[in-house]
Amino acid sequence: MAAYQRNYKEQHGRWQSAQHHHSDRARARRRERQAEMPARQRYAAQYKAYDSARRLTLKAARVEVFEPREIFERDAWTCGICGEPVDPAIAWPSGRSASLDHVIPLSGGGEHSRRNTRCTHLACNLAKGSRLT
Ligand SMILES: [Zn+2]
Repeated sequence: MAAYQRNYKEQHGRWQSAQHHHSDRARARRRERQAEMPARQRYAAQYKAYDSARRLTLKAARVEVFEPREIFERDAWTCGICGEPVDPAIAWPSGRSASLDHVIPLSGGGEHSRRNTRCTHLACNLAKGSRLT
């Protein structure tokens, strides 16, 4: 311990005080507590900035927030491309599963909105996508 204290004095030009000792430990404890905090709480300011930037982006692109299921139900589980029924029990990635189609593709400037989306079969939607490219 004496060697450590002499070494400290050589480096800092003064003896290490008990107070200093204590605050080092307090800082370490604070760091430990911070590490246990959820990311949202730890980086509250960063998250707040991210959220408001994201809100602005959504607004600019006229993006509506909705669940695909809402559109499938609106369209009575009928494919907007082939006109055949879509079975809600068939799950992705089956070609017969329900897929949300953007009538005007997002890549073509279409908006992610209820009026620009429709219920389709995944296979029909993918086939349409490959035709457009
Ligand atoms: Zn279809």
